[in-house]
Amino acid sequence: MRAIDIIEKKNKNEILEYDEIKYMVNSYVKGKINDKTMSDFLWLIYNNGLTIDETIALTDVMIKSGETIDLSSLGMPVVDKHSTGGVGDKITLIVSPIVAAAGVCVPKMSGRGLGLTGGTVDKLESITGYKLNLNRKQFLEELSKVGCAVISQSEKIAVADKKIYALRNEIGAVDSIPLIASSIMSKKIASGSDIIVIDLKVGKGAFMKNIKEATKLAKTMVKIGKAYNKKVICTLSDMNIPLGRNIGNALEVKEAMDFFAGKHEKRLYDLSVYISSLMISSAKNISFRRAKSIVLNLLEGGYAKTKFYQWIKSQGGDITKIKNKAKKYIVISKDFGYVNGIDSNKIAELVFDLGAGRKKKTDKIDYACGVMLNKQIGEKVGPGEILGVIFYNKHVDNMEERFRDAYTIEKRKKQPKRIIISTIK
Ligand code: URA
Repeated sequence: MRAIDIIEKKNKNEILEYDEIKYMVNSYVKGKINDKTMSDFLWLIYNNGLTIDETIALTDVMIKSGETIDLSSLGMPVVDKHSTGGVGDKITLIVSPIVAAAGVCVPKMSGRGLGLTGGTVDKLESITGYKLNLNRKQFLEELSKVGCAVISQSEKIAVADKKIYALRNEIGAVDSIPLIASSIMSKKIASGSDIIVIDLKVGKGAFMKNIKEATKLAKTMVKIGKAYNKKVICTLSDMNIPLGRNIGNALEVKEAMDFFAGKHEKRLYDLSVYISSLMISSAKNISFRRAKSIVLNLLEGGYAKTKFYQWIKSQGGDITKIKNKAKKYIVISKDFGYVNGIDSNKIAELVFDLGAGRKKKTDKIDYACGVMLNKQIGEKVGPGEILGVIFYNKHVDNMEERFRDAYTIEKRKKQPKRIIISTIK
């Protein structure tokens, strides 16, 4: 086989065989074809797409390029959760302990933030002592003991995806449905859960900007799951507005603590309850309604909160020592009206420039910086009231103006959109 023939075939928009896809991926991983050749191949996929069979073949080759995890020894229902990444997305910190408190195991391998979207690994690293690099034995022990564990994505899982995803980021070939679907699903399938709930973010602060494309991506991931006998459930959720009040790593851990203390922002609460209920209902094979009443009981009874603190402590974290040392800059509202919009992309760019995000995987970040949205969507605000707080260690030019500019405040209140758009299974 030769890469040039396979590229030519894809260029003519012909359907590739399993072995041809395998040849391209494996040769790239082994260094037998270079970045330039692989970029040409990826660009053709980006422009011409892949059929569902080709997408499943690509997923399969990427799964087989690394290790797979067997979770059957856990002996309890297991469900994984994935988010495609958003602004202020601390859902994993909240739903993992809720679902674990319901007796359903949550094995999570998470990533670091890249570009404007944050990563759960960075958020957890803002807790002093929290261990993200557990080996397989320790991971399984944590899961049996606590019911949930969140560690960083193993380097040995879907090895080909790592190399290809890095190249896609470099050449700007990220937002292609077959490439995203195979990338996400290869890691999720290799991680061993039979049920996978995906929170697919749509809007300004997400890489899926519109519902039509997001629905296509969701359907593709569900189909890939079916090919592996996995139950995949995709929820499309709105990411035009940041999730919750806090954006920034340590600030988001703090918001998770507030959540379990009963102080929750409405959209964050709605999505957390919804995703937890989906995870429990699919793992226990009970109705969504019943699962939701379990979730509400776990929250009201404080069981989910207990589980949250047990989990963090068990993984070595000292929740009293969060890396949150930053100066505060309070932004006061000049306007009277209702918050009808908060642009997540503008907030993400500001938080990134404050130092919370990285351009390259190796960049250092500032765990403490970020913003607090004292006024969220639909809330009333008057002149002199606190609109928000900027937490910073390095001053960013025009940070106050940029924060204000993200807000749309109008005299008449618009009904905020629901956070949950649809669910595809
Ligand atoms: N997240 C992934 O893991 N892969 C993609 O391609 C995009 C988002």
